[in-house]
Amino acid sequence: MNIQKVCVVGGGTMGNGIAHVFALKGFETTLVEANADLAAKAAATISKNLDRQAAKGTISAAEKDAALKRLKTATSPAEAGGFQFAVEAVSEKLELKKTIFRALDAAAAPDAILATNTSSLPITEIAAAVKDPSRVIGMHFMNPVPVMKLVEIIRALQTSDETYAAVDALAKTLGKTPACAKDFPGFVSNRVLMPMINEAIYCLMEGVSSREDIDQIMKLGMAHPMGPLQLADYIGLDVCLAIMGVLHEGYADSKYRPCPLLKQMVQAGRLGVKSGGGFYDYPRR
Ligand code: NAD
Repeated sequence: MNIQKVCVVGGGTMGNGIAHVFALKGFETTLVEANADLAAKAAATISKNLDRQAAKGTISAAEKDAALKRLKTATSPAEAGGFQFAVEAVSEKLELKKTIFRALDAAAAPDAILATNTSSLPITEIAAAVKDPSRVIGMHFMNPVPVMKLVEIIRALQTSDETYAAVDALAKTLGKTPACAKDFPGFVSNRVLMPMINEAIYCLMEGVSSREDIDQIMKLGMAHPMGPLQLADYIGLDVCLAIMGVLHEGYADSKYRPCPLLKQMVQAGRLGVKSGGGFYDYPRR
């Protein structure tokens, strides 16, 4: 399939980075946000991040200018219109995502592929919202998108082999390394990562070790770039709790029960970096 025009819906942390990468890699990219102010803010962030890359010498000034020329903003998929590929990166709410997929379905070129960047929602259910679910797939980018190499590609029950092959090739065109998973709760990334974080929180709650030593053991002992408690603070403890909930409900297995200390931290509003404190303290944003 010949993909030239791309629509990215949602211009927050992830959508911003996704639109940045598509525009930089030569795709005509329209970033759709909920209103014009948010769209302008998202475009300004992309411009600032491209400037930073150009200053570092990762990209040339000409590449930056060309990427900005290829980037447009809109406030609905209909306004973007006629795209051959779309990726949705709006807030993690199932009904919102289904609504966006119906709008994408109506606005896309015939046979367009529609992808979601969801971390934890059932892609099979999102796919069921459109006319041809065989063209729906998960394309799970990692944060920060311009830097992280992995794209976890998730096949819904209905995803066709053609759709999968096209998205696998697309990820490579973006300079990413794709890895495939099926649409089961947490896919692979969060099914492995979140129980590890949850277990680290149990170690802290039970007094097995201090927060610093838990993180040190996993950093130096397992060559992880960041300890699990610090990583949880960066992801957001509310997000970690929500994903543990998805695993717990999805598999109905007590091994995924969220640690009571994780619940308590969220109840206390200690959500991590974004709230100024989680397991560690951070300057207020
Ligand atoms: P975010 O809150 O930073 O951004 C969501 C954006 O969606 C907001 O800017 C919001 O204005 C926009 N939005 C809401 N309704 C909209 C609508 N109707 N039309 C257009 N835009 C709309 O969230 P995020 O962290 O970027 O996460 C987005 C998705 O990516 C979620 O599904 C999340 O699970 C997934 N994800 C997040 C991360 C991460 O590290 N943050 C990593 C991988 C995947």
